[in-house]
Formats: sequence, C-alpha cells, structure tokens
Amino acid sequence: MPATYSKDNPSGLPDFNNTETAYAHLSSGELRRALVLFQTVGNAKLVGVGKILIQWALALRIPIGWAIRPTIYSHFCGGETIEGCETQVNKLYASGVRTILDYSAEGKETEDELESTFDSILEAIKATDQDPHHAFGVFKVSGIAPTLILELVSEGKTLTSAQREAWQRVRTRVAALCTEAARIKTPVFIDAEESWLQPAIDLLAEEQMLLHNRIQAVIFTTVQLYRHDRLAYLKALTDKAQSSGFRLGVKLVRGAYMEKERFRATKIGAPSPIQPDKQATDRDYDAALDWCVEHTDTVSLCAGSHNEASSLLLCSKMKEAGLAVGDDRIWFAQLLGMSDPISFNLAAAGYNVAKYVPYGPIRETIPYLIRRAEENTSVAGQSSRELELIRSEFKRRSQVNRAR
Ligand SMILES: Cc1cc2nc3c(=O)[nH]c(=O)nc-3n(C[C@H](O)[C@H](O)[C@H](O)COP(=O)(O)OP(=O)(O)OC[C@H]3O[C@@H](n4cnc5c(N)ncnc54)[C@H](O)[C@@H]3O)c2cc1C
Repeated sequence: MPATYSKDNPSGLPDFNNTETAYAHLSSGELRRALVLFQTVGNAKLVGVGKILIQWALALRIPIGWAIRPTIYSHFCGGETIEGCETQVNKLYASGVRTILDYSAEGKETEDELESTFDSILEAIKATDQDPHHAFGVFKVSGIAPTLILELVSEGKTLTSAQREAWQRVRTRVAALCTEAARIKTPVFIDAEESWLQPAIDLLAEEQMLLHNRIQAVIFTTVQLYRHDRLAYLKALTDKAQSSGFRLGVKLVRGAYMEKERFRATKIGAPSPIQPDKQATDRDYDAALDWCVEHTDTVSLCAGSHNEASSLLLCSKMKEAGLAVGDDRIWFAQLLGMSDPISFNLAAAGYNVAKYVPYGPIRETIPYLIRRAEENTSVAGQSSRELELIRSEFKRRSQVNRAR
C-alpha cells in the first residue's frame, strides 16, 4: 500500500514512530527480550566486560552457546543453517520485508577454510532461486580471500607466483558467485571492508559489474561515505558505468570500521581516510543518496542504513523525482533485529525493503554479534532510540489491553 496523505501524516512519508506497525511481528515475549537486550547492550561497561569474557571462553573452548543462543543470537541471527532461518524469513515476508541471507563466517585464512566459506555462500545464493522471500545475496570478499593477498593487490605490489595463484583463486571464487547470481537473476551485494583491502575489492566488483550488469544491476558494489574520498569515487564510477555501458549497482553505507581505520592510520603515521566528524559523514551520505536518485537511468541503489533522517530523505527525494515508492531501482536495507520501525513502516508504505539475516554456527557469528553489541552501546547512541520505541509499543499494547 503506497504512503498516502492523511491528517495524521501530512507529509505522505512513512512515520517511523508508528510502533504498532514496527513491532506487529513480535509477540510481547519477544518484545520483552528485545527490551532487556537493548538495555543490556546500552551499558558500554557491560559490553566491554562481556566481549572479554566471550573471547576468553572461546579461546579456552568453554561452551557458551547456552547463554548466547536464547539472547543476543536469537535477536540478531536467523539460525544456524539456511533451513533454521525459515521461521524468521517467513515472518519478515509476511510484513513485506524481504531477506538477504548472510553467511556469517569471518577471519578465515587457510585455503580449506576459504573454500568452505565459498561453498556456504554459494549455497545461500542458490537458496534464493525463484524464491520471492529473498531480495539479494551478499558476501564479503575477505571471507573467501587471504587478507594478505587483498592487502598486497590493494597496494599494487608485485606478487610472487604463489601469491598470483592465490589471487587467481580469489577471482575465480568471486566470478563463480556472481555468475550464479546472474544465472538465477538474484542481485548480489559485495560488502565494503577496511580501506587497505578495498582497492582489491573495488577491482573485483567493477570487473563483475562490467560483465553482468548490461541490462539489469545484478552485482552491487558498496560505497562507505565515512571515507572522505568516496563521494568522488561514486561519481567517477557513475561516469564509468555510463561510458562503458553497464548499470551501476550500489549499496550506500556510512561504514563499520571507523575505530579500526583511525587506529591504523595513527599507528602507521598516515592521514586518516575517515571524515573529520559525523556531520561530514552524514553530509556525504545524503549527497550520495541525492546523486543516485538523480541518476536512476544508470544507477540502482540500496540504502543500507539505520538512520531515520537519511531514510526519510531518500523517500522525499524519490517523491520529488516522481519515482513510485516501489520503484525497483531503489531499496532500503537494515540488519535483522535493528531499526524495525524503519524497516516495517517503509514496507507498509510500499517501499522495497530487505533485512540482512545473518546465520551460521554460534561460534562463527561471535565477531558479528560483538560488533552489533558495540554499535548499540549508549556511546554509539542507537540503543536509546530502539529502547524509546520499544517502551512506547509496550505502553500502547497495555492501553489497548485495558480498553478491551
Ligand atoms: C543493510 C546494511 C548493510 C551494511 N553493509 C556494510 C558494508 O558492506 N560495509 C560496512 O563498512 N558497513 C556496512 N554496514 C554498516 C554501516 O556502515 C554502519 O556502520 C551502520 O549502519 C551505522 O550507520 P547508519 O547509516 O545506520 O547511521 P548512524 O547511526 O547515523 O551513523 C553511525 C555511523 O556514522 C559514522 N560516524 C559515527 N561517528 C563518526 C565520526 N565521529 N566521524 C565520522 N563518521 C562517524 C560511522 O560510519 C558510524 O557507523 C551496513 C549496514 C546495513 C544496515
């Protein structure tokens, strides 16, 4: 149902304060779990101590699944296998939100581990075939490539013959994932990573877009606007797409590795690739949205963000440009368990929305879960907004119950 003008909603844009729509998919028990979880991760000290304890337990091989599975894992992950995600995937779909299956294994380095991650990602892409529950596939190049090789290629170093072979294996794996996505017509995101690996990832993404995006955007690269040089890159890539005759698929994100980036820049005495402040990141992110909406003849866009202002801005830019809310060149995406008010209110208004549904054995998802917890501390700020809205939904539900 498209967003309509009404007295309560004079802008005709989605209302992210509508908690009834935002949390309709959650029972009161699930909502309570979310409340306790956001209260817990809102405490930065607790998150810090929890992170050390988990890493310590993992190193000593102490089982921790019993504590993690019913709490943070159930909230942020779909399940341990693709089949295990089914309930979650159906629940999202029933509210108009589609799934992006995200196999969550990180930090693998041996060829056997990389090959096994490749197999799992390929399986996830294949699982989307002819299935409308799924909107996109996704992968991280570092999951199927040795970090050192990505770093050397990014620096433009001359490779030894063994390294050249390893790089060739990476290119073959990326090509196989993209070819399968193109064959079954499921678009696939290539995630963005640390700046010292990104030139190699850009190379691979551009190679695959040139090959597969002739008619439709099947391959999506990712641009991180917390980097001060990436708005210019997005514009140059649009020019390249126009002159080479391919559609540019792009996921716009602010960026997830800010502290790591700044730490490394200080350590090696190099200038930081990160914007000077949050305002500069927000400015470039919104300018990038604007750029993409103005270039929909060439660009297909996914806004990967939990920022309400940017999400609303994209809705109003679409409206100004005369684009239908469900225009298939424009998508919104959030992570499972985060910013439900954005995802579900956008979907109810008819926009294209998908959520990353991470899955995998609990042990493998720990680095992802730690990032989610850190992102939601009171320092990062996200948990207070989530808590405010969950509390107001509890209040609304109890008023409804009293009125019965
Ligand atoms: C669907 C989806 C896909 C994603 N894919 C990727 C990916 O491929 N690669 C990746 O790196 N991240 C990815 N992310 C994470 C994303 O980059 C952000 O870390 C996260 O979404 C928070 O940003 P936000 O837009 O939601 O908004 P906000 O919460 O408004 O912004 C927080 C972000 O602003 C930036 N920021 C905060 N403080 C400062 C400061 N002092 N100076 C400069 N910048 C600052 C940081 O990037 C921080 O993460 C993805 C997120 C989503 C929802």
